Amino acid sequence: MEPRTIWSYAADGWIETGDGRSDIRSAVTGETIAQIGHSGIDFAAVLAHARNIGGPGLRALTFHDRAKMLKALGEAVMARKEELYALSYDTGATKSDSWIDIEGGAGTLLTYASKGRRELPNDRILIDGAPERLSKRGTFMGEHVFTPLQGAAVHINAFNFPVWGMLEKLGPTLLAGVPAIVKPASATAQLAEACFRILIDADVLPKGALQLILGPTGDLFDHLSGQDVVSFTGSAETAEKLQRHPVVARESVRFIAERDSLNAAILGPDVTRDAPEFALFVNEVVREMTVKAGQKCTAIRRAIVPEALIDAVETALKDALAKVAVGNPRDEAVQMGALVSLAQRDEVRGKIKALAQDARIVFGDPDSVAVKDADAEKGAFLSPILLRCDAPDKSERVHAIEAFGPVATLMPYRDLNHAVALANRGKGSLVMSLFTYDTAAARDVVMGAGAFHGRIAITDRDCAKESTGHGSPLPALTHGGPGRAGGGEEMGGIRGVLHYMQRTALQGTPRMLSAITADWMPGAPEIGGDLHPFRMRFGELELGKTLHTAARTITLEDIEHFAHFTGDTFYAHMDEKAAAANPLFGGRVAHGYLLLSFAAGLFVDPPPGPVLANYGLDNLRFLKPVKPGDAIKVALTAKSKSLRNAQYGEVRWAVTVTNQNGEPVATYELLTMNAV
Ligand code: NDP
Repeated sequence: MEPRTIWSYAADGWIETGDGRSDIRSAVTGETIAQIGHSGIDFAAVLAHARNIGGPGLRALTFHDRAKMLKALGEAVMARKEELYALSYDTGATKSDSWIDIEGGAGTLLTYASKGRRELPNDRILIDGAPERLSKRGTFMGEHVFTPLQGAAVHINAFNFPVWGMLEKLGPTLLAGVPAIVKPASATAQLAEACFRILIDADVLPKGALQLILGPTGDLFDHLSGQDVVSFTGSAETAEKLQRHPVVARESVRFIAERDSLNAAILGPDVTRDAPEFALFVNEVVREMTVKAGQKCTAIRRAIVPEALIDAVETALKDALAKVAVGNPRDEAVQMGALVSLAQRDEVRGKIKALAQDARIVFGDPDSVAVKDADAEKGAFLSPILLRCDAPDKSERVHAIEAFGPVATLMPYRDLNHAVALANRGKGSLVMSLFTYDTAAARDVVMGAGAFHGRIAITDRDCAKESTGHGSPLPALTHGGPGRAGGGEEMGGIRGVLHYMQRTALQGTPRMLSAITADWMPGAPEIGGDLHPFRMRFGELELGKTLHTAARTITLEDIEHFAHFTGDTFYAHMDEKAAAANPLFGGRVAHGYLLLSFAAGLFVDPPPGPVLANYGLDNLRFLKPVKPGDAIKVALTAKSKSLRNAQYGEVRWAVTVTNQNGEPVATYELLTMNAV
């Protein structure tokens, strides 16, 4: 079959010209399967297009608009996933490896779509935290906000997950409102390009939102600015080179790096040969060695086990590894495919040799492997290799050399502190896992190792069935680690979106800040009028619309009635003597929930109207006790609004309950669904 030529995509068009070609070879057969067409890209123009066309288009949309876009992109990838599966085999990936890459990638976009709609406002500015009162009279306030950076996100991706690696960066970037320039790794660029084409074909993105650079990045870095973000995944060497680029330093270009990582798994000191955690540990180490042929930035490289169990673990691992069929990933009987290229295999063999200076190979032969349905020399096949290092304190190599393939080193520890010290010798990793049923041991490990690891997965018999495992980064959790792992952080739900936004501290009057953020704060003007706010439809309701209710006096009978009606006969409401001895109350007080109920009784407008439902309240605080004879009244103000769909939107109300002296006794935010 004639190899397909793939091209870059810039300024909203495929650049299908240029004479240069570089081959992409099948990891399985060695045949040329695609060629990268080198098209003489003007990198300054690519950046300018992103900044001048893509950025404004994306920033004109609200978070919810962008979330809908991500949903459409995720669905487009799912609808055409078979095209991607077909291409993925030649990267060496089995069907289940490809599932992680392709459906995991689409799933990440869909998760960001749903988080964007649920956790971000239907607006373009994001508020960060509560207002800060900066003056005595409250006329001068502070508040933090996030707005999208006005540059481009340059995504430089690794070869191992061409689809997921691209989409896990695109989700947060596009949700933030920042255009992206994607540079996939050349070794698997044919698969990344096919997925990118699906995103473009979906035709939901504003112009300039996405561009694709295949091959070298030319002088791209020379044109970066402080509004741009580089998000890099790959080797420490390349990361360091790019991070040292003079423009990156001079312009303070944000640089997010995910690099090599010597991830560890610890078998807890409580675990015996027969405990469920023993088998779980063995299965996980084997899984991490063989999924994607071990080419995972999160794979377990160091298996750290109690001295007394090391022989048993070694035997169990060897038995399990012996059952792993290596070969043509298209063959369903095969569990482990090939490395991405022959060059990568040579590289991994070199690293195994280096590791073998401090450890001995106890399973597998780096130079020979029996393969199913394939040619072991033409394809980049490698046996799983288990090493054992009995003196891990004395070795530098086992904690520093990452063989990016099906390779792990087993090592013993004396006690938990020793295990933690060994895990931390990786000098920063993306993930470590702990297999234990002992909660105290787990807490000690988190205290001892947390600072060195971006994620700690604790597995035991109770969660094993549902656990997503050691090696899977999840969109809701941060992915990244300190030190050697790059010092970056990606995903983590909305946290990942913020990497593409600027936090700005605003100062001004409540009126000014409320108008800027579309979120009313106390001190900002109230809108009065005779019409009850509950009679206003979502679209009619202006922020600041306020209802001040009449007062209601709380009597002892009210408190008695409420207590017996609800069953809440706590002494502070019922027993004058006991309540008088309570230093906070000094006598019987009304129930907090009675106040809430009476507040609703005061502000509610009973007949059917645009308020469809009360669906909760946030940030409730009881500030001052209310005693029999006190009179409460309520101020209810429309604080913020978020359209949910064509039928209704969410309204957040600021509620303040005050006593006869005007002192607040309770504050909270009430949530209603209002018809549009
Ligand atoms: P590289 O660092 O060589 O490449 C990563 C990305 O950077 C690729 O897209 C590559 O493009 C690009 N790149 C390389 N040089 C430059 C440059 N000078 N300017 C701009 N972009 C550049 O890593 P690999 O993907 O080849 O993987 C090698 C090693 O990286 C692995 O053996 C492993 O140790 C580590 N790795 C770590 C991962 C992690 O998540 N922590 C994931 C994958 C790999 P091109 O392919 O065109 O050279």
